Amino acid sequence: MGACPWVATKPAGGLSGRVLNSSRTTDLATGMCPGWHSRDVSDLEDLRHRMRAFTNERDWEQFHDPKSLLLAIVGEVGELSELFQWLPATDASDLAQEDPLKSRVAEEMSDVLLYLVRLADVLGIDLHAAAVAKIEAAGERFAADEVRGTAPAKH
Ligand SMILES: [Mg+2]
Repeated sequence: MGACPWVATKPAGGLSGRVLNSSRTTDLATGMCPGWHSRDVSDLEDLRHRMRAFTNERDWEQFHDPKSLLLAIVGEVGELSELFQWLPATDASDLAQEDPLKSRVAEEMSDVLLYLVRLADVLGIDLHAAAVAKIEAAGERFAADEVRGTAPAKH
C-alpha cells in the first residue's frame, strides 16, 4: 500500500494545514490515509484510492494491465450504449432523467469512470490535471465569442 502524500496536521501556529508526510501509509481496508477526509482530496483521488484498495485486497493487480483495463472500459461503454440503443432519440433525454433508466445509466457510467480512473493510476497519469489541461486547451481553441451556437468543426 502506498504512502499517504498528504496528512492533515496542525502546525505550531494553530492553523490547520497540510504537510508532506511519506511515513504514513494508507489503510488496507479503505485505501484511505489515516485522518483523510473526502474534503481533503479531490473526488478522483478518492476513487483512485478506493479502486487501488479494492484491487489490492483481491490480488487483482496482476490482471490490471493497460490493455485489459482499456478493454474493460470499452465493454462498459458498450453496456452504457446498450441502454440507449433502441430508444427513439426524441425520447432518450427524458427517459434517462427518470428511473429505472436513470439508475441503470448511473451504474454503467460509474463502471466506465472507475475503470478509467484505475487505468490512469496504473499508467501514473494525473487524470484531473490532464483533463483540466484539455479543457483549457479547448477553451483557447474554441473561443466562445467565435463559436457560440455552432457545432465545432472537425479538424
Ligand atoms: Mg457495467
